[in-house]
Amino acid sequence: MSHIWVWLEQFQGKVPSIVWETMGVARQLADTLGTGVTAVWIGGAIADQAEAAIAMGADVVQVIEHPALADFRFEPYLAVLTCLAKESAPSAILMGSTARGRELAGGLAAELGTATLVDVMEIAIEDGRIVAIRPIYEGKLFARTYVERSPAILTIRGRAFPRPDPDPGRKGEIRRVSVELDPSVFSTEVLDWIQETEGEISLNEARIVVGGGRGVGGPEGFETLRELARALGAALGATRAVVDAGWIPYKYQVGQTGKTISPDLYIACGVSGAIQHLSGLRGVKVIVAINKDPEAPIFKAARYGVVDDLFKIVPALTAELRRRGLAKG
Ligand SMILES: Cc1cc2nc3c(=O)[nH]c(=O)nc-3n(C[C@H](O)[C@H](O)[C@H](O)COP(=O)(O)OP(=O)(O)OC[C@H]3O[C@@H](n4cnc5c(N)ncnc54)[C@H](O)[C@@H]3O)c2cc1C
Repeated sequence: MSHIWVWLEQFQGKVPSIVWETMGVARQLADTLGTGVTAVWIGGAIADQAEAAIAMGADVVQVIEHPALADFRFEPYLAVLTCLAKESAPSAILMGSTARGRELAGGLAAELGTATLVDVMEIAIEDGRIVAIRPIYEGKLFARTYVERSPAILTIRGRAFPRPDPDPGRKGEIRRVSVELDPSVFSTEVLDWIQETEGEISLNEARIVVGGGRGVGGPEGFETLRELARALGAALGATRAVVDAGWIPYKYQVGQTGKTISPDLYIACGVSGAIQHLSGLRGVKVIVAINKDPEAPIFKAARYGVVDDLFKIVPALTAELRRRGLAKG
């Protein structure tokens, strides 16, 4: 059986954690199927990321280095991956379920005449086939699905699988590959990157998220949650109601029309627990709800609940973390 591929998504030469989690999945699948893992780097200089990919589980790293490919652009990246995949016919192609991963996976499936399964949360081998378990209908149901055609293209949900420990002693092969690209694929140009906020923990990678809803009362109410988030080393999240009200930007929105998150802990403060919000929380391990209304639906989804005013509970929690010397910031 041919190798399982992992696309090494990168931003300015750095590989996000979700890619290494995906590598762990690929390694396990390859070991079960008796094949190997090829990591594919498309970008500027790879620096030490090829060794990192081998330490994380790759047997082969295909390196397509070119200054024109330094920044992600859908068309040239798709052209490179399509060309390589047509040549080598991998048995499956895995990538992180990021915005870019999902975009590329769809394009690749169309180019290769196969199908893509996005947001995979569990995976198994049954009768020699890769069977993926993934949420459908906004997370109300989980589907067990496999792709009949080859290669199966899967995007792996962040924090759904463990990040493997690197093994610096692992051996692998680094292959530099050159690909002829038609200039017409460079139909866009990246002029600049604008970082929105510095030093904030990303919602997608956070282990703890403090979420705020209409119960925070206004934009200034989020300061109380920010304090707790800082103390916990957590990311901030929000409901659509408060985003629509303009209390906090859209990038914080969790739910059906926002982000899907998978932290270990979600502290919902003044959040009613509407189905559209809960659909973004399917991967959360433990939900703690703080709400004045004992009938709020969030308590049905929560493992622990506090029926009280969030402006009493949240500052008390932050103060207690500080008093015990547990506050991170
Ligand atoms: C097509 C569609 C897509 C949607 N997508 C999303 C989505 O992606 N994400 C999302 O979140 N929503 C989404 N919604 C909106 C969703 O239906 C709810 O309207 C929204 O989630 C409610 O937000 P909320 O919990 O902040 O507000 P509310 O429902 O108004 O709840 C506020 C809660 O705060 C509590 N409270 C008030 N004051 C306090 C206090 N001082 N202390 C403690 N508790 C207090 C109240 O008891 C109440 O339970 C969508 C809706 C539609 C129709």
